[in-house]
Amino acid sequence: MRSRWNDAEARDLAPLDLLVYASRLIGAETSLVVWGGGNTSIKTVERDHRGRDVAVLRVKGSGSDLKSIQRKDFPGVCLDDLRALLDREDMGDQEMVDYLARGLMDTGGPRPSIETLLHGFLPAFAVIHTHADAIVSLTNNDRCREVLTGVYGKDVIALAYRRPGFRISKEVADAIAEHPEPRAVVLERHGTITWGATVREAYEGTIELITRAEEAIAEQKRGRKLFGGPRVPVLAPPRRREIAVAVAPRLRGLLSRHRRAIVTFDDTPAVTEFVSSVDAPALSQAGPATPDHTIYTKRLPCVVRLDEAGDAGAVTEAIERSLSEFERDYTRYFEEHRFEGARLTDPLPRIVLVPGLGMFTAGRDRRTAGIVSDMYHHTIDVIGNASAFGRYASLTARDAFDVEYWPLELYKLTLAPPEKELARRIALVTGGASGIGRAVARRLAAEGAHVVVADVDEAGARKTAEEITAAAGSGRALGLMMDVTSEASVHTAFEAAALEYGGLDVLVSNAGIAHSAPVADMALADWERSFAVNSTGHFLVAREAMKILIRQGLGGALVFIATKNVMAPGKDFAAYSAAKAAEAQLAKVLALEGAPYRIRSNIVHPDAVFQDSRLWSDEVRRQRAAAQGIAADQLEDFYRRRNLLGVRILPEDVAEAVLFLASDRSAKTTGCSITVDGGVREAFPR
Ligand code: ZN
Repeated sequence: MRSRWNDAEARDLAPLDLLVYASRLIGAETSLVVWGGGNTSIKTVERDHRGRDVAVLRVKGSGSDLKSIQRKDFPGVCLDDLRALLDREDMGDQEMVDYLARGLMDTGGPRPSIETLLHGFLPAFAVIHTHADAIVSLTNNDRCREVLTGVYGKDVIALAYRRPGFRISKEVADAIAEHPEPRAVVLERHGTITWGATVREAYEGTIELITRAEEAIAEQKRGRKLFGGPRVPVLAPPRRREIAVAVAPRLRGLLSRHRRAIVTFDDTPAVTEFVSSVDAPALSQAGPATPDHTIYTKRLPCVVRLDEAGDAGAVTEAIERSLSEFERDYTRYFEEHRFEGARLTDPLPRIVLVPGLGMFTAGRDRRTAGIVSDMYHHTIDVIGNASAFGRYASLTARDAFDVEYWPLELYKLTLAPPEKELARRIALVTGGASGIGRAVARRLAAEGAHVVVADVDEAGARKTAEEITAAAGSGRALGLMMDVTSEASVHTAFEAAALEYGGLDVLVSNAGIAHSAPVADMALADWERSFAVNSTGHFLVAREAMKILIRQGLGGALVFIATKNVMAPGKDFAAYSAAKAAEAQLAKVLALEGAPYRIRSNIVHPDAVFQDSRLWSDEVRRQRAAAQGIAADQLEDFYRRRNLLGVRILPEDVAEAVLFLASDRSAKTTGCSITVDGGVREAFPR
């Protein structure tokens, strides 16, 4: 492993800034720590609230991530308080947390890491603790001690696995006090501890330790067949995609039985090689690479029992069987190891390995599903490396359970903000690059939905999606090209959504165009163009949505953006009004067909939404003004004055009605029309 230390960047940094710098270097290396794993510290002298100089440990706070850590993420703990604990034999977890809280330098900051004592008990100025893949590769096999001695001789101290907390911290401190020469401690099945008189020394010590492990692994793996070679043929990429798309919604439906999940698909070569191998069924059931993965990944993935992945029906059946076996085994594991206060919230897997196909991972949102996927990539690496030295081994079921249900680890999850109304839901909005579609996409995202922004203007769709992810977080939107008049284009866009998020909960069918001309002068092509977008487009999109929603079995909401013209048509607007009337009728039939599946279908009728709208092109404005016998620049004012409330209708007003119909607020409403037009008497629904 290459040192990333840069003297020019590090030179003038104050001690805490230097710790931030080194921590980010560690965090940038995902084979050292992933997603919140690992921690770092320094010991300094600071002024306390009474103006006294006191020795302080600055240590990573719980819930922060090394790769993006900041000064404020390092709470200070009074070192005298910590060192006083060296006289103790043992200490309970909660007692330890309460004790640490009393020794904090600042109020209102983050809770110090649950591995704080590990840092505080060591005399060195700087301490770094990682969950390095290379190290657990050496320790997660049945020849662990022999392997470590072979690689490091007497240069490291190895300690048997014990859950983080008081006792392992004490064991580390005692071991170093007894043997002061070694430069590092290896915690078996967990990670590394290195230290130094400077931050740089501790950092370089980590890199050196890992480099030696990496060299030994490369040497040991040379010429070896990984995972016993292939067992199930890996499908070609287009076929994989096809099967994954076909099974994803059903899988998401099953994984959402207790709480809705976002499910994402991964078929990168490392994954397909592993899941399709001879040894994967056994190796994957040994346990996690390092304990802190378990709160995201659970102890074990679900391996689908399958000899061939080429038939979507057979794959779906195999997934159903394997999931129910997983649920049964997981419930048993929970019952066997449960302690007082432990609560089984979800007995379903976070990782589903499908031989010949790839891996599905599940989480509360796309980001979390991605974290689970990242972690399993590292697990596959570690399994491959560790198996080169001996039989892959992990924590015992007991130890894994104690971490998975450890209140102090679960505390990290409570740091996430409370879930919003549309959290864990997936919405697809057509015509999302501008106007009503964009406002709807933003509104649903603001309430927590994952949004697929589809538009014939691909750059515009991506831009809306980028705005959403900038505001709501990574993974929360996907911008893609969809031409609603093309069966293939609609299908491809829904496929992308299924692979990214696992399925669908809400469809907002919005894309539309306008054309104005008296019937006597209308070209057939203009009539057909209007029907292609304003009528057939809604059919194609709704058909794909219905297929996914039915397969998923979680109900769903279809919202159609129609127009006031459906109820009160305007002259010279036949192509538009007639096609939109067909859309509205389609929406009502879908209410009938969707009801048995708890799929609701409703309509919003806006009128004259000009702002940010592509429907109201200059040409259409001119034509509509002519039809009303007014000048084009009077058009907006004309429509405003025409409605009872005398108001301008904005895209955001329409988005409010869509939110109502898309969410459970309207759980008992289907086949309904809501107007957003300021009140147009001729268009009152009846
Ligand atoms: Zn750790």
